[in-house]
Amino acid sequence: MDGNKAKLIEELRAEIGDCRRCKLSATRTTIVFGEGNPDARVMFIGEGPGKDEDIQGRPFVGRAGVLLTAIIEKGMKMRREDVYIANVVKCRPTVDMAFVRDRPPDEEEAAACGVFLKKQIDIIRPEVIVTLGNPSTKFLLGLKEGITRVHGRWFVYEGIPVLPTYHPSFVLRNGGDASPLKKDVWEDIKKVLARLAGEDNASAALQTRNGSASEPPEEKKDEEYIPTLF
Ligand code: SF4
Repeated sequence: MDGNKAKLIEELRAEIGDCRRCKLSATRTTIVFGEGNPDARVMFIGEGPGKDEDIQGRPFVGRAGVLLTAIIEKGMKMRREDVYIANVVKCRPTVDMAFVRDRPPDEEEAAACGVFLKKQIDIIRPEVIVTLGNPSTKFLLGLKEGITRVHGRWFVYEGIPVLPTYHPSFVLRNGGDASPLKKDVWEDIKKVLARLAGEDNASAALQTRNGSASEPPEEKKDEEYIPTLF
């Protein structure tokens, strides 16, 4: 492991401290900084912690986390601790700040906390970023189109290839293991694997971070194998 990256990540965590920079601090239990290998080749970015994450202080540990872990371990054949997982905001956003129902971070919260995510990315400099769902995709790429249109297409953030896909909780809410979205996610993840293996020739399709459209999605082919559980 690159000791310098690990040290910089630690310093960033210290900089955040017991953060009160936005209103989410009023209701959070724990700051969910993010976790994984500072030398990760792949970074997954969601929108914010949910109930389980807020309690445990770790990203993606609830039901959506189980699915994301399955994607990483069963699908990508990587260990969860070898990738890096973070969110746009590090405290749990809830509807009416009531700590009952989750919501995406608002613009003010994303702006206040997103600077830390950007610093994390800048330290880790992964080979690929996978954004999970609309909020993280829009935050990083400034896209106007929704995830349904942009998933599976390559973009670039600060020189790093970015592939948006559906958030695991969206897959769970839309049929889970039986959801057709599962196949879309797997098709997207296969593109990430191909790029990591140096087999992907999507460089020409990479776009600037302003989010202009890349090449149209490839025609989907039937795929016989989808890893169980995702
Ligand atoms: S969400 Fe981020 S900016 Fe807001 S209080 Fe939590 S750590 Fe600070």
